[in-house]
Parts: sequence; structure tokens; C-alpha cells
Amino acid sequence: MAGKKKEIQLQATILNQTQWEEMLLVKGLTVVDVYQAWCGPCKAVVNLFRRLKNEYGEDDLLHFAVAEADNVLTLAPFRDKCEPAFIFCVDGKMIDIVKGANGPLLSKKVVAVLEQERKIVAGEMPRPEVQELIFFEEKEPEEEAEEEEAGEQEKYTVVIIKPDAVAEGKVEEIIQTITEAGFIVAAHNEKILNEEEVRDFYRNRSEEPDFEDFVAFMVSGPSHILIVVEGKEAHEVMPLEMSNLCDIHDSVEEASRQLAFFFPDFLKKATGPNVERTLALIRPALLRERRESILKRIEDDGFTIAMQKEIVLTEDQARQFYKEHENEDFFPVLLEEMTSGPTLALGLVRENAVEKWRKLLGPKVIEEAKEQCPNSLRAEFAIDSAPINQLHGSASAGQAAKELEFFFPVEHTLAVIKPSALEEHKDDIIGQVKEAGFIISEMQETHITPEIAAQFYKAHEGQPFYEQLVEYMSKGPSMVMILTKENAVEDWRKLMGPTDPEAAKQISPQSLRAQFAQDILRNAVHGSSTADHAVQSIQYLFGDIDLESLKHKLIYL
Ligand code: ADP
Ligand code: MG
Repeated sequence: MAGKKKEIQLQATILNQTQWEEMLLVKGLTVVDVYQAWCGPCKAVVNLFRRLKNEYGEDDLLHFAVAEADNVLTLAPFRDKCEPAFIFCVDGKMIDIVKGANGPLLSKKVVAVLEQERKIVAGEMPRPEVQELIFFEEKEPEEEAEEEEAGEQEKYTVVIIKPDAVAEGKVEEIIQTITEAGFIVAAHNEKILNEEEVRDFYRNRSEEPDFEDFVAFMVSGPSHILIVVEGKEAHEVMPLEMSNLCDIHDSVEEASRQLAFFFPDFLKKATGPNVERTLALIRPALLRERRESILKRIEDDGFTIAMQKEIVLTEDQARQFYKEHENEDFFPVLLEEMTSGPTLALGLVRENAVEKWRKLLGPKVIEEAKEQCPNSLRAEFAIDSAPINQLHGSASAGQAAKELEFFFPVEHTLAVIKPSALEEHKDDIIGQVKEAGFIISEMQETHITPEIAAQFYKAHEGQPFYEQLVEYMSKGPSMVMILTKENAVEDWRKLMGPTDPEAAKQISPQSLRAQFAQDILRNAVHGSSTADHAVQSIQYLFGDIDLESLKHKLIYL
């Protein structure tokens, strides 16, 4: 009995968010065992903690606690995780975590943190700036698959509580409203925005007449920025009636942008370490001779090809792209090579993509590559007849952004879910559209008339299937959509797959037509074949829509 009593004293029990906040105020280090109701706190470490307390606890800077993940909002990311987790809290912040009952690591960290705390308390050192840990729900692979099926994509929402609401003490009330609606505040930051940030951030409002006043207001005092995730129990949509007090942004792209802006480390934690994009070019000679093997090699080396575009560069385009080399000796050769046939531009994604891709390429001069790094791609994929190396990679992350924009500008395309697929597959298709990173800029359910269908497919007039096609397209409602993203036209065609579903099943079994088409006529979806066609057909179906402003909306909303 005595033993049991001691155990309770050793670890305080945190039953709710308020007690969690109180724990954060306790002086010194508190190590919290975050546990699940169904398995209880971790017994394996109790003896270790007791020993540590006996050995190091005399000046009352070392505390232990247990908290059930379900009871404390801050711990929501730990719900349903079976691995024990120990969170180290110091000075009101979560500063470290040990996953698993790793005794040696726990005791090493406890001793190190305590030593530092002692020095700080004794005034021997100032408290170092530490970034608080932000936990984000890591998804189990099965969960991800389920979400994909459900077509769910929204992950987080950014809420900005504006200076007047902050000054009036409304922050708690707003947070309460949000959490009562079943949402979880995953991160929370107070920040006085500076003018540049407000201008950049609210660029889409810059044309509004009172924008200057708005900027002045936004920099006048601290705002609170929240990242909100939908909890399991979310029973309402985000309470939007608060929007005069705070801005709520709930598109994924926009939220991501804002996350990067306000919480630069948050995205890294949420998406893994430093996932980057870079531009790769496969120059014409290599593309002609060894297309398949170079593409395979790129994927085998761990890069994901997120976008690709085959393009014959005009001389002007090549000059523009290589402007910085204009005055170098090799420029004429480079121009000639780059305009000699199709180049394949690739948007590659992986962690540290820029650096990893450049390393893999090896030295620029082919002879050097062959001598010094025979395994590098420029050595292995050198083409004897071509005077220059056959692969390009962006030099830096900034360069990569510019070069990607050059080859993959933000585009719109027209997509249609055709009558035969609308009723049964609409949700699946829309889910996959979003999953593939398209923004649905406009979406309308429309019954296409035979006249419109005839006009729409005018280019096919005279084909044996033309009449059937017009009849089919006008036999029931369709969903017409404007899809927006980098490289939208080509990427949407790729997602649709070949016109004939039999071919689609062979070549591209994941494509929409492979999944949802009935036959070559009733092939589920339509997509523009070129950027020019896209603009024409969007204008035909949506009238005078301002496409440029849609792009703006994509980035800044
Ligand atoms: P896509 O839709 O892939 O751009 P096309 O522009 O060649 O293909 O054709 C337009 C539409 O006409 C197709 O999506 C399909 O519905 C129909 N179609 C094309 N070829 C045939 C065919 N051989 N038989 C019946 N219908 C066809
Ligand atoms: Mg077509």
C-alpha cells in the first residue's frame, strides 16, 4: 500500500487542458508520460523515474506527470498512438520528446536538462531561446489510404486573430468557440506583423480603397495566429461568423503558404524534413537516345517526378532560360543543342532535392565527370555525339523556384465530368482531382445542350463518332470545372489517361479513365488538349471570366 501511495506522488496526474497549462507553470523540468486510456501509463519507467527523483530531485526542479492523450487538447496528436511518449516541459514550453520507453535516453536527457536548469536558476547562465516543439498528427499509412478514398484533403486551417480582437481580450473566447466546434488548435503564435509582411500577405487586397488603413491597423498591435485541425469529433464547420475578428483561411494551398509564412518550422515537421522541389532538364540528345533509362534511374535514385513537360525550346526561350551564360564561350553550342529537339523538363521532389540532384549530376564538364565521378549521371549518361552535358539541375532553391515557374507556369484547364460518370463517380473523381494538387477554381453542374456540345467538339466534325459524341454529351448533366495549378493542362491529361479506357488500363491503370470509363465514347472525363484550347473553351463555357485573377487567388486567396 505504501508503495502505491508513493507512485501517485511521483507522477502527478493531468486530467484536462487546464491542469496541463498549470503543469507548464511549474518551476523546473516536468517529464510527462503521455498515455492512451486502453494501455495506461508506462510502468516500465516508474522505477527509473523514482531513482532519478531520489538522486536529482532534492532542489525540487524535477517533476513527473502522466497525462491521457484524449483528455488534453495539446496532446491530440498523440491520440491512438501505441508507442509511449515522454514530453519534456521546461519554462512553459514543450522542449523535447522521447518516444518509446528508452531508459538510458530518458535518464541522459533528464540529467542534461536538469543541469542546465540548475545553472539558470543559480543565475550562472541566461535562459537560452528554445523553439517550442509542435506536434502534428502523423498519419498511419492505412489512415492515409482511407482518407484518400474519402477524398478528404483539408488538413489545417490558419486563423488570424486581428489586433483589435486581441486588444479587446477576445483570444480565449475565439479559441473556445473553435474548440467547442470540435477543432483542435495545433499551434498558436502571437506576432506583431510588420508592414512588409502585411503587404505581402494581403497582396490580393491591395487594390481595395481602404487598404492603407487596413495595413496601418494590422501593424498596430499583436495578432494571434492559430493553426487549427479538424478533430475527430468535429461536428460543425469552422465558426465563420467570427470573421470580422479574425481571418479564416481554409484552402490547403493557402494554409500551406501561410504556415510557411508564420510557422516556418511547422511544415517541415508536418511533411518531413525539408522536402524541396528542383528543376531537372533532360537535353535533346539524351532524351532521343536513352529516355527510358534516364527516367528510371531518376526514380530509382529516390526522386519523385511530380511534373513533366516535353518542349522544343525556341531560340528566344533558350536565350531567356540561359541568360546568365550569355557571354560565355559555350553559349552558342548550348543554344544549338537546346533548340535541336524536344527537351524534357522535370519537376523533381524529395528532401533536399536541389542539393541531392546536383550531387547526383556530378561535374559540368563531361571529361571531369568521367574522371572524377564515373558514377555521376553526367558521366553515365554522356552522349558521344553531343558536345555538352545532357542534364541540368537548378543551382539553389531560389533558382529552382524561378526555373520551375519558367517551365511550369500556373495554368488553367477545362475539365468536365461527363454525363455517364457524374452520378456514380463524381465524388471519387473530385477527390482524386484534389489529391493530385489541382485547385478547383470554378465548378458548375450544367446540362450541356446539343448545340453547345456540337460547338465544343467542332474540331471532330466529320469523324464517324461525332453524332454519337454530341448526343452523349448532352444526354444529362455534366460537371464543368476550371482546374488550376502549375502545368495544369498536361497534368490533367495525364491524370485522365488515354482516350480509350482499354489503353488506359494497360498504360496507366491509376488514371481516371482506367478507373471510371465505360468505353471509348463514354470515357468519364474531358480535358483541354493545349493551353490555348483551355482558354477558349473556358471562355466559351464560363463567359468572360478573369483568369489572371484566378491565379492570384490561387496564391494569396
Ligand atoms: P480526348 O477526349 O482524349 O481529348 P479526342 O479529343 O480524340 O479525345 O476525342 C474527344 C472525345 O470523343 C473522346 O473523349 C471520346 O468521348 C470521343 N471519342 C474519341 N474517339 C472515339 C472513337 N473512336 N469512338 C467513339 N468515341 C470516340
Ligand atoms: Mg480532345
